Amino acid sequence: KGYSNPNEPKAKPSQNLQFYQIEKLLHEAIENEEFSLYYQPQVNIKTGEVEALEALLRWEHPKYGLLTPGRFLPVAEKTELIIPITQWVLKTACQQNVDWIKLGLSYLPISVNISPRLFQSPYLTKMLEQILSKTGLDGSLLELEITENSMIDNIRESLQTLQTIQDMNVQIAVDDFGLGYASLSYLSQLPMRKLKIAQTLIHNLKTHPHQTALVSAIIASGHIFGWQVVAEGVETQQQLEILQSLKCEKMQGYRFSQPLMATEVSKFLSLHRTLVNN
Ligand code: C2E
Ligand code: MG
Ligand code: MG
Ligand code: MG
Repeated sequence: KGYSNPNEPKAKPSQNLQFYQIEKLLHEAIENEEFSLYYQPQVNIKTGEVEALEALLRWEHPKYGLLTPGRFLPVAEKTELIIPITQWVLKTACQQNVDWIKLGLSYLPISVNISPRLFQSPYLTKMLEQILSKTGLDGSLLELEITENSMIDNIRESLQTLQTIQDMNVQIAVDDFGLGYASLSYLSQLPMRKLKIAQTLIHNLKTHPHQTALVSAIIASGHIFGWQVVAEGVETQQQLEILQSLKCEKMQGYRFSQPLMATEVSKFLSLHRTLVNN
């Protein structure tokens, strides 16, 4: 015990992992349950109330440590592995929400990120049906975040998928808006209710006046179309103040809260509730 073999190769830092190695490790990760979900609150800027939680995937590998989605999701996307991974994410997030509701800890929609590959596959809607009926979660307490680029490739099919999702009462949010190729006029034809402004645009708010104008136009148009508008990646008081002046009503970011472990969420919510009410 405690003895380590000096001839055994040292664990490589995860930076050196190759595509095929990550693919192999991902197979094991699913079987060994090495994934967990963190939850980041979305807050109403005016009232200070938490209005939703975004589920964010984390992978704690026993040997390589924490791998962030940016490292392994591209691999999962290029292989079929994104399907079982998202199935796990959806199942875990929905079950967690049912548990929190039962315990009276929260009654908030949880949003789950859906990658382009899965959105365009026939699996997504079947998966949703199964998981909602198995966990018993009301569809309205689940939200899917879909990037604009996922939806512009095949317009007719995208529209049909979104319609099927809406029929289950599941909400749709467009993620990372403002960097891709979808126009607001295209999005206005889709059954969506929330627009999330990409964090790159938010980070440049002070330094780039023309980006402030762009964000301002996105917020104003979003409201005309009847969408909720969320600023992503809000880190500073200054960004928050600019967003307030632009009448953006919701935000998500380190300024308010980091993504939290499930066990931290209930503590955070009850502490926050007393702060808001006093
Ligand atoms: P996203 O959906 O845009 O999620 C927001 C990302 O910004 C998260 O990174 C979050 O931790 C980070 N973030 C939040 N607030 C701030 C802030 O104030 N400043 C900065 N710099 N960053 C902030 P994360 O968790 O590393 O996820 C990265 C991306 O990976 C996500 O971007 C999403 O596209 C994808 N992703 C995460 N979880 C899942 C998942 O379960 N399934 C799928 N398909 N994609 C996921
Ligand atoms: Mg997201
Ligand atoms: Mg985003
Ligand atoms: Mg994203």
